Amino acid sequence: MEWIGFVVGLIVGSFLNVCIHRLPQSMSIVRPRSRCPQCGRPIRPRDNIPLVSYLLLRGRCRDCGGRIPWRYPLVEALTGAFGALSVMRFGFGATALVVFVLVCALLVVTFIDLDHRIIPDAISLPGILLGLAVSFGPGLISPLESLGGALLGGGVLFLVAWGYQRLAGREGMGGGDIKLLAMIGAFLGWKGVAVTLFIASLSGTIAGLVVMLRRTEGMRAAVPFGPFLAIGALAYLFRGPELVRWYLGTMG
Ligand SMILES: [Zn+2]
Repeated sequence: MEWIGFVVGLIVGSFLNVCIHRLPQSMSIVRPRSRCPQCGRPIRPRDNIPLVSYLLLRGRCRDCGGRIPWRYPLVEALTGAFGALSVMRFGFGATALVVFVLVCALLVVTFIDLDHRIIPDAISLPGILLGLAVSFGPGLISPLESLGGALLGGGVLFLVAWGYQRLAGREGMGGGDIKLLAMIGAFLGWKGVAVTLFIASLSGTIAGLVVMLRRTEGMRAAVPFGPFLAIGALAYLFRGPELVRWYLGTMG
């Protein structure tokens, strides 16, 4: 059944590309049809097949020959892979669907944060409510764990942001990160928040150091934190129990 997850993932990934492109500009994600960013001509349905069209067209627009950013097939391939992984790890059913919805939200947030340094409330706020709602069904966690996760996720980063602002006198972490971790907590519970934050801080610090070392004078080393929170949540989702054991083991 994994291949169904993969194909559905490819198709959804094509839609995620639209969300990543249009959400930050407050454009409708339904209309108009996708257009070539270079020549503005609408993309034909047969040129809009995930992954396949990019390969057949060799990454160029059929009308003007302008390059199609490799980001598009990358997002489609990633979404397809996570669709297959969700089925592989959680079985073909409701839990895999919930996991896949969270994965999609995380992918959209990651690329929007990389592009614009924002995490849209249009994803994280409905995401918090959705995470709480689906916890009442059969799935990953109970409603109590979901509520606890949302409060811990939002609360912990709120304190970090507040503390940093007091100490450094300027804003270090945006409200978007706080709401994102609250959303992750609503889906994954407090254990998920702890592991997500641990992996995100570790990978974010390493990436921050690399950026700082390579930084040229005058360039701000602003590394968006959203993608690292997404990496942490994905690692927890797909390797969760092993990570918790390892994490608790390292603490003594
Ligand atoms: Zn074109």
